[in-house]
Amino acid sequence: MNLNEGNTMSQILNVTATETKPKKKGELSDKSSERSGQRVCRICLGEEEDSQPENELICPCKCAGTMKYIHVDCLKEWLDSKKLVYNGEKVKSFFWKALECELCKAPFENVMKGRLFNIMNFECPGDDYLIMESVKSAPAKVVHVFNLSKGNEFRIGRSVDTDMKIADISVSRIHSFVRIRNNRLFIEDNGAKFGTLVKICDPFEIV
Ligand SMILES: [Zn+2]
Ligand SMILES: [Zn+2]
Repeated sequence: MNLNEGNTMSQILNVTATETKPKKKGELSDKSSERSGQRVCRICLGEEEDSQPENELICPCKCAGTMKYIHVDCLKEWLDSKKLVYNGEKVKSFFWKALECELCKAPFENVMKGRLFNIMNFECPGDDYLIMESVKSAPAKVVHVFNLSKGNEFRIGRSVDTDMKIADISVSRIHSFVRIRNNRLFIEDNGAKFGTLVKICDPFEIV
């Protein structure tokens, strides 16, 4: 960590230094150091100028120095290598054990500095689909993609017999159903011990 902080300082110094300033003893002379002052991707070592507008360099965590920046696509590809996929018949589930930086442990978010980045890569069917996310404590992420063309009823619960599986003791074996009726989606409780609660995000008028 101290090394990273040191690199940040030398980068800041080099940005403002004139070319005649002698190199500090022990200063790294590798490619990234020669480009000091440049923003370089920690994975592909590409510079900002190389990057496409939709693949810009971002600082997704608390790392500093040469580890500070990463391309959106490089981050996405790296997170993709950490992804586990459960390929169910009706629902495909994607698991990330830890959506976080391995060095500084800061969680990676889709929204960074007020801007939205699509860093999680998962396939959605071409037809109608529904995306659900299991409520997990950070940094774990679990996303379920329901293929709505595969049926009118989807089972949610702890049992292996369900379409969307939630490995949590407070979830009943078959906890609830997602049903499609008259082109509308309904969630229905299956008499689960702890019930099925719906979080209301918009104002709701109580008569
Ligand atoms: Zn890169
Ligand atoms: Zn980090």
